[in-house]
Amino acid sequence: MSGTLAIIGRPNVGKSTLFNRLVGRRLALVDDRPGVTRDRREGEGRIADLTFAVIDTAGLDDAPPSSLEGRMRAQTEAAIAESDVCLFLVDARSGVTPLDRHFADLLRRSGKPVVLAANKCEGRAGESGLYEAFELGLGEPIALSAEHGEGLSELYDAIAPHL
Ligand code: GDP
Ligand code: MG
Repeated sequence: MSGTLAIIGRPNVGKSTLFNRLVGRRLALVDDRPGVTRDRREGEGRIADLTFAVIDTAGLDDAPPSSLEGRMRAQTEAAIAESDVCLFLVDARSGVTPLDRHFADLLRRSGKPVVLAANKCEGRAGESGLYEAFELGLGEPIALSAEHGEGLSELYDAIAPHL
């Protein structure tokens, strides 16, 4: 296992779905560890011959609305700080939102390498959102489908140099 990848993005973009795809059953090894909180999961990710630590963030369902942003920011900042590369996920089907821009600014300020990916790109429904993601100023977005396992070789090429 080499470096650490943090999956960053607003709720519902598919972070946990991607985490599960990267980690698969190996999650079971870390799930029972004392001190591993419910809203932050870590595991050993794998794409082909590349293995790495992966952090999933933001299980915010229990947070009162007033503290939502605060908790999201704290958890996200901790994951960013520990990572060697951040995978910033947006939802190609909903397009870029103000919260996406907020995360983009946070990532830019962190100084960490950022790989931008637009998830839910299977079929044609994600096309406009994929192009919209260019606006975030974080380079060319990778077209992903976490649910269908599409775009993983492009993801490999983008993250491997940092891990
Ligand atoms: P998170 O809040 O960012 O962790 O997002 P989740 O992984 O919980 O996913 C949110 C929703 O998006 C769920 O209903 C997933 O089934 C759905 N989803 C995740 N990945 C994809 C994808 O590649 N394509 C589509 N169409 N839906 C997806
Ligand atoms: Mg999640």
